[in-house]
Amino acid sequence: MTGLTLVAGAGGFIGGQLTRDLVEDGVAVRAVDCKPLDRWFFRSDGSQNLSLDLREIGACREATKGVEQVYNLAADMGGMGFIEYNKAVCMLSVLINTHLLIASRDNGVSRFFFASSACVYPDYLQRDADIPGLKESDTYPAMPEDGYGWEKLFSERMCRHFREDFGIATRIGRYHNVYGPFGTWDGGREKAPAAISRKVAMAVITGRHDIEIWGDGEQTRSFMFIDDCLKGTKLLMASDFVDPLNIGSDEMVSINQLVDIVEGIAQIKLKRTYKLDAPKGVRGRNSDNTLIRKVFDWAPSISLKAGMEKTYRWIYDQVKARAEGRSYVAAYD
Ligand code: NAD
Repeated sequence: MTGLTLVAGAGGFIGGQLTRDLVEDGVAVRAVDCKPLDRWFFRSDGSQNLSLDLREIGACREATKGVEQVYNLAADMGGMGFIEYNKAVCMLSVLINTHLLIASRDNGVSRFFFASSACVYPDYLQRDADIPGLKESDTYPAMPEDGYGWEKLFSERMCRHFREDFGIATRIGRYHNVYGPFGTWDGGREKAPAAISRKVAMAVITGRHDIEIWGDGEQTRSFMFIDDCLKGTKLLMASDFVDPLNIGSDEMVSINQLVDIVEGIAQIKLKRTYKLDAPKGVRGRNSDNTLIRKVFDWAPSISLKAGMEKTYRWIYDQVKARAEGRSYVAAYD
């Protein structure tokens, strides 16, 4: 039986749903986020919920007191539009992971999960739309995404050295774009699946049948549904695998294809305009899942269409509620 487990960043998209899952699994969870409790995306009644700024070492000591396992999902982050214009803010998340590691060591935490990102992979491997998936061994020579990616890569290495030098069993998941209900869907930090769902929902609700797409829409990505992300995270945390591991889908699509899928779900066809000077990120990115399949005999497999059906439905409800002056709706099956 796992002892007390800290989920850092529990007021966010992935942390909120991980907390829900762990509570359902019977784990005692301390859920921490810097946002006030009423602004958490998802709050479990069965967890101890605290609002603390984990950039502060004192807050990290309080958060890790009596804790056996830590999932660190706390970071100041967002989609391309956010990380492109907030590099210093993204890099300051180094304070969260560093102070959490120090406090974890001092409070006798045994296991520590760090949420890294596909943004650690070098820019020079991602210049074409049609590229092979990124393998864990592709990381060096390093040239990650400026700002956000460098922080993730540095923190990965910090985790490795805390394992080697202080014996904390650190585990590092490299998430590739995660999407699903209960995530950011507007405000500037949302990622492509949520932004496109919101725009399509707006078109359905207002009757204005057009959509703005960032770039020429031919840039490629893979997107992992939240349920696969949670499964991969828990598998990695419980395993003996110590190196960074991709947790991502390998179903690569262009942004135009993603729009096709959402239009199909909403049964609408929109006039597309392309904002060519918008932040676009790398030209192509996909996950190579050879290693995760080898380690767990499993890899993320929920199809983009199936995941987007749930995501679009949830975002449509949010957009509609707002348009009607109602507050946030938090329900999906
Ligand atoms: P999110 O923004 O929804 O959640 C992050 C949470 O961290 C937020 O609720 C935020 O308030 C909290 N936080 C920020 N600063 C904090 C602080 N100083 N103290 C306490 N809490 C703080 O993001 P998410 O999508 O749930 O991502 C979780 C983790 O996964 C992050 O580390 C992110 O970088 C990583 N990741 C996510 C994706 C993705 O596609 N969502 C992809 C790659 C990596």
